[in-house]
Amino acid sequence: MILVYRYIKDQRLIDFCEDYLEFMCRKDYFLLSYKAMLTDELHYCSCHTGGVGTKTRLPALVYTATGNKTYLQASENMIRKVRAKCVHATGSPVSASEYLGPVGSVTETEYCTYTVWHMMYSYMSYITGDAKYGEYMEELFYNGAQGARKKDERAIAYLNSPNQLYATTKSSWAMGDMQVYAPCYPTACCPVMSVLLPPEFIRGLILRDGEDNLYFAAYGPCSLKYGDRALRVDTLYPFRNRVKITLECDGEFALHLRIPSWSEGYRVTVNGEEVKTEKDEASYAPVQRLWKKGDEVEISFEASVKVQTVDDSDMASKFPLSIRYGALVFAYHVPEKWTPIKGTPMTPLPEGWSWFNVRAAFTPASVEDGHEEIGLRRWQYSWNFALDEKLSPADITVEERDVAGYVWENPPILLHTHCYKAPYLNATYQSKTFEPFEKYQYVTDRLDLTLEPYGCTNLRITYFPKAKLD
Ligand SMILES: [Zn+2]
Repeated sequence: MILVYRYIKDQRLIDFCEDYLEFMCRKDYFLLSYKAMLTDELHYCSCHTGGVGTKTRLPALVYTATGNKTYLQASENMIRKVRAKCVHATGSPVSASEYLGPVGSVTETEYCTYTVWHMMYSYMSYITGDAKYGEYMEELFYNGAQGARKKDERAIAYLNSPNQLYATTKSSWAMGDMQVYAPCYPTACCPVMSVLLPPEFIRGLILRDGEDNLYFAAYGPCSLKYGDRALRVDTLYPFRNRVKITLECDGEFALHLRIPSWSEGYRVTVNGEEVKTEKDEASYAPVQRLWKKGDEVEISFEASVKVQTVDDSDMASKFPLSIRYGALVFAYHVPEKWTPIKGTPMTPLPEGWSWFNVRAAFTPASVEDGHEEIGLRRWQYSWNFALDEKLSPADITVEERDVAGYVWENPPILLHTHCYKAPYLNATYQSKTFEPFEKYQYVTDRLDLTLEPYGCTNLRITYFPKAKLD
């Protein structure tokens, strides 16, 4: 309605929207009114996590028509609150049985929340002009959302979590068969929303202001044709921290380049020559000139590996570690075994499409005795490991690899470090992914450890348990 108001200027549309915001205050069962958003209170399970994505942007949208800053503050404060308690390192909003839940190794995310939260960030990016919302878009799109889809685009997981050794009809903590990989579920929202996400992300990459200056809110390969503005973006971002923009039009205007919060320095060149540009308060660095078709702008960011402690104090309180580099979160990719299953699709699946159970693959222990085999095989579990809680970024090396095939299947970047074998970390007969029981894990040998971008995995360890070391 607010968007329609911009075109037809009928005051009744604004009146209706403001009436609705007040109605929400009187019937605030889900603590999603703008007045509830303005408070510091936030309660798990109070509202549907997808509802947060759809409702939170509404007051800010009404602000764009009325100028009432209270509405804008409500949306901004709500995002601050939910991000402080309910968002994984991967940008995944936590949904406990679809409702707001705490961060933890096995707390799940419903797929459609990626799309509706992305839309919330994207709307806030263009309403406020604040670069942090572009960063949230990238975090969610390049990490969480990629990690919950099959890499041939033919299945998603309705629910997924940072640590997952199973994605089967039995592995979900919250809801029935919802961790299984499927092209369609009896509940339609997530598959539908999953195909809406990429075009929504692309739509939010570049913004314009009233003079048609361009703002790069998020980075990714794309091209733009709008009015007399045209350009192309070539980049392997987020696998590389360099972005090249080639102008395909003439004209005087500014390119505002987002400087990510993780960037420890940046360098901008125009046609190979360095250009000095200071980032503004909103974290955009402007480059203004009279452009000619074929001009090339390059921006590169300095980044370093970060080892972070995950605050899971409202869940297991194990404070596991997570590792990121640039816009990417890294995980140990648990070897996967995909088994097609019949599932319960509502309509027949086309040829070549299936539901799948995904389980961790391992080499059986080579012993004759079946009973002994059960006891020994956990030594073959490559995911039974823990990290030194004092692990420093200096202990982690970055390997940039040539692109070979699809980047989400063959990652062009890896991290290498070390870990410690934790033979008793996981139970033998489990069918769900458990939190580790002890605060510090009993460990034996020191081992090499290679990590992949989270988005390249479907089974993984992302929140690393801590080793008991003297
Ligand atoms: Zn859904």
